[in-house]
This record gives sequence, structure tokens and C-alpha cells, in this order.
Amino acid sequence: MTFFCLINWAVLQLNVPLGGAAKAEVFFLIEGTFNMTRSMVLSSLQESVPEGECLALFQSGVHRRLGGEPLALILGKASFLGYEFMIKPGVLIPRPETELLVSEVLSFCKKRHYSAPFVLELGYGSGCILLSLALKLRSLTGVGWDISFDAYEVASDNKDQLSCDNVTLHHGNFFEDDRVVSFLDQSNVIFVANPPYIPTPDIATLDASVRQFEPLVALDGGSDGLSFYRQCFSLFKGSNIPQFYEIGSGQQERLGALAEQCGYGDISITNDYHNIPRILTLIGV
Ligand code: GLN
Repeated sequence: MTFFCLINWAVLQLNVPLGGAAKAEVFFLIEGTFNMTRSMVLSSLQESVPEGECLALFQSGVHRRLGGEPLALILGKASFLGYEFMIKPGVLIPRPETELLVSEVLSFCKKRHYSAPFVLELGYGSGCILLSLALKLRSLTGVGWDISFDAYEVASDNKDQLSCDNVTLHHGNFFEDDRVVSFLDQSNVIFVANPPYIPTPDIATLDASVRQFEPLVALDGGSDGLSFYRQCFSLFKGSNIPQFYEIGSGQQERLGALAEQCGYGDISITNDYHNIPRILTLIGV
């Protein structure tokens, strides 16, 4: 069988669940399992596929994808802002809209001349936010917390792989760590988080590929989805620390009202590429 036939077979299989995305995913799967670049695949279309481990991996990848498993878990990696992050079960797969959170922090730093900020992150997961910030702004110092040990392991591997010596990752509860309090009155501190924000009753309605393959601890934001924001707003109240949050679809008004109640004056929302309000920024009190 040629690569051309193999690709066609896989696209046909995946067309039903994935529609227009099937072809692109099949190419990523071929590249990942055969360890080939896109141009190598394109120039090998009429060559026959060698029997062996790569082919078996590819075929099992197609079947896993048919079973709803996300491509990032099958390949063990995901791309975020052009960097490659290793992904394993137990960490949230980076989403394209989260790239906007990083861009917002970076443009804030530029605008306010924060040349060497201290960035605190709650719930780093794979590490994609804090590590890409650290890569884009080498003078930054990053400190992150995650309650999940899987996340700690994956993010630590990503930190080593991407040589982010300017980032420290802690495993533990952000809200119970005294080190957090010691940052509250320092200057140049910025807080960033993509906290779990799905309301508990909505978890059952999530797409099966999210519900079955991604960690609940990274998704479940309590009964109304806002529990982490409430805790953060009250922790940072009075500290003057600029805060950047990813938020769930339709949460902007309730979060704006909550922030106002906590005394925050400068509240802004940025829409994502689908025009959904996605980033909440609180500057000072
Ligand atoms: N954006 C995620 C989703 O797929 C949720 C991430 C989160 O809760 N922070 O629904």
C-alpha cells in the first residue's frame, strides 16, 4: 500500500466524526507516527508504506481517534504559540484561545514597561501559559502552582525541554501556600490563570472527547463555574496586582459584577477569535 492509499483510507475513516478536520489530522498523525516532515510525506505519496511499528502506531492512532481520544494525547504533544508541549493524560490540552491570554499579558508588560515582571500562575497544567511567557520574555521570573501531580510532572518536563530556567513550578494548593502571600506586596507582580471554569452541572454536557479524556480537576469550576475567580479576587483584593484570566463563554457579566463588588475599578474583557468574551483583565483596585 502507498502512503497515498493509507492517507485516503484514514481520511475516509475519520471523515464521519471529524468532517473537514479529518485530512489535517491524518497528516499530523502520519508525521507523528512515521517521524516525517510534511514535505517528506508529500514527496513519498507514491512510495509503499513499510510494514512495521510505525504503521501499527498509525493504525492504532486512527482507531483511538475514532474512539474520541484527542489527537494531542495520541501524539503526546500539542503546539501552543509555535512551541511544542508534551501532553499526557491528566493535563488539559492547550486550546488556541488560551494563546490570547499570553498575548494580553505580553502587551500589558510592553505597554507598562514591565521589563522584568514576576508572573504568578494558578493551575499551570502542561505549563503552556507560563513557559511560553517565559520564552517570549526572557527577563521574566515565573512561579506556578498546580494541585495535580500529573501536571507537575508534565510541566516540569516541558520546562526542561524548553530550557525555561526562569520558571519555578510548585506542586500544591496555591491558596494554602504562604509563599503566595509573600508576593502580594512586591512590585512588578502579575497574576495569570486559566482556572477550571465549567459549572459542575455542565460537565456532563461537555463533548465526550473532553469529558472522557481530560482531567476534571482542570475543568470543574464549582456549582456556577466561578469558584476559582471568587477565591482569587478576594486574595488579590487591595494588592494592586494586575490579573489576567481566561473565562468561560457567557461568564463575563457575572465576573465583571463580582470584580466590581470586590472593589476593582479597571475591569476589561477581550474577545477571542470567535468573538467570544474570553480574557478578563483586572488592573489595580
Ligand atoms: N476551555 C476548556 C474547555 O474545553 C475549559 C478549560 C477551563 O475550564 N479552564 O471547555
